[in-house]
Amino acid sequence: MSDCLFCKIVAGDIPSTKVYEDETVLAFRDIAPQAPTHILVIPKAHIASVACIAPENSAVVAHIFEVIAKIAAQEGLDGGYRVVSNCGADAGQTVHHLHFHILGGRQLNLEMA
Ligand code: AMP
Repeated sequence: MSDCLFCKIVAGDIPSTKVYEDETVLAFRDIAPQAPTHILVIPKAHIASVACIAPENSAVVAHIFEVIAKIAAQEGLDGGYRVVSNCGADAGQTVHHLHFHILGGRQLNLEMA
């Protein structure tokens, strides 16, 4: 998608601080970290949000969760971490390319909403 910020990051048109990359997945540090460790994990192919996960594209989501476990270990998040995906306006999704936030490195607030 030519007007998608994260597609531009995948293409290398916008710089990012990469922490992991393979054929189908990219992970990079969030530009406005909400925790000492705040990483975004995205599929390279454009999927707008969790609402658009379907049998044709869901394999990458399983792979993303394998990658998340690997990154958390690499980052030393031994005390735990949170994985969040905001979906749609009510959840505050601002970038409409599926992404999973990894948040950790401090005791996180317990509120879910
Ligand atoms: P969400 O609000 O769940 O859609 O999350 C979008 C996230 O993307 C926010 O946490 C932003 O700080 C982050 N973000 C926006 N632009 C960039 C960028 N150029 N590089 C890294 N993270 C970004």
